[in-house]
Amino acid sequence: MFNLSNEQEMLVSSLEELAEREFADDAFEWNGEVPWDNIATLAEHGFLGINFPMEYGGGGMTEFDAMLSVEAVGRVCPDTAEYLFTQQMVGPREIEMFGTEADKERYLPPMIEGEKDSAVAVAISEPEAGSDVGAMNTRAEEDGDDLIVNGEKIWVSNVPHSAAAVTWVKFPEGLGSLIIDFDAEGIEVAQHYTNMAEHTQTQFYMNDVRVPKENVLTRGKEGFKQQLKALNWERMGSVTFANSMARCALDKAIEYAGQREQFDQPIGDFQGIEWKLADMAKELEASRALAYRAAIDAHNRGEAPDRLQTSLAKLYSSEMVEKVVTEALQIHGANGYQQGHPLEYLYRLARGRRLAAGTDEIQKTQIADALKKDGVPSLL
Ligand SMILES: Cc1cc2nc3c(=O)[nH]c(=O)nc-3n(C[C@H](O)[C@H](O)[C@H](O)COP(=O)(O)OP(=O)(O)OC[C@H]3O[C@@H](n4cnc5c(N)ncnc54)[C@H](O)[C@@H]3O)c2cc1C
Repeated sequence: MFNLSNEQEMLVSSLEELAEREFADDAFEWNGEVPWDNIATLAEHGFLGINFPMEYGGGGMTEFDAMLSVEAVGRVCPDTAEYLFTQQMVGPREIEMFGTEADKERYLPPMIEGEKDSAVAVAISEPEAGSDVGAMNTRAEEDGDDLIVNGEKIWVSNVPHSAAAVTWVKFPEGLGSLIIDFDAEGIEVAQHYTNMAEHTQTQFYMNDVRVPKENVLTRGKEGFKQQLKALNWERMGSVTFANSMARCALDKAIEYAGQREQFDQPIGDFQGIEWKLADMAKELEASRALAYRAAIDAHNRGEAPDRLQTSLAKLYSSEMVEKVVTEALQIHGANGYQQGHPLEYLYRLARGRRLAAGTDEIQKTQIADALKKDGVPSLL
């Protein structure tokens, strides 16, 4: 089922080679900044936005190809992979799926060309509405050809580097989404927080922000249903990002275990360490299998990934990466525990996956709901 085509194998090997050559040296020195040099390099080689239509500068490839690209880059430089995942599979992707032609022409080419600060963020969370998205208070009200948006968002990633945010709002008839430019009048940044991985997450207010109706992405019951399905691709992006971090940690653990000697032999020759490596590989491969299955099945059906498969993959990958990174750090001994060490950084970065894009607990709720509704799925 997971046989890659020749093109996909070439994509992975070219990206791994490029990442090793160009990104490896300073892969863990970005200190919370977007690695713009790497983003520009990816764009130059046509590896940014590979899953977007060619008319906007993309590569016309699939979401699964985008996932493979995140994995190939992330095993070398997780920060570059994180940008790749958010831009290929989250904000701009929603504009591509739901936006007008004018929206696509405006927001997609600059991002795909790797232009600095041209990212598109996604603003869903609010101080009183985290997992309970339905409790959000941001409202969009009609005013002629425009909408007037009032509310507050929090924990939004990438704001300082983004031109706009796909923003979830309450229309009079229910939840939906629209594009808000960060330079629009009435946007007020309340605070840039710094998370455990030193990345910025922003709280901002929208005070009577005027938004043209062309900026509406999804609205009405059916529109919002589509939006929720699109969220499954975001979750698959998170899964792939987690898998890439685990791969990075495992590669480093194997290398270190082969070099570090104690008791007159490489620690990698102790069965205790061999078993750790075996367990890490088992966990990673199980996570990749869940991810690939969900993505390939989605492509076969011509739809977004199935809710059950997505949540199984998201839950597994978020827990898996935490375990694998912890064990890789353990294998590195005190070295891995020092500030500035790649494992110490991965340990902090990986922890976010159990919270972002739907917490572990919410994935479990989704899994249980799907099981109660449809039963245990057939593998055939
Ligand atoms: C690295 C990172 C990046 C993020 N980027 C963005 C972004 O770009 N845009 C954005 O809008 N948001 C972003 N978020 C926010 C993220 O979406 C929220 O953190 C997430 O939805 C959870 O909301 P909360 O933090 O308010 O926790 P809460 O919803 O308050 O949950 C607190 C705890 O209670 C649990 N809980 C809640 N409800 C239930 C339930 N029904 N059953 C069992 N347990 C439950 C949760 O699982 C969690 O453990 C990001 C978060 C992180 C960590």
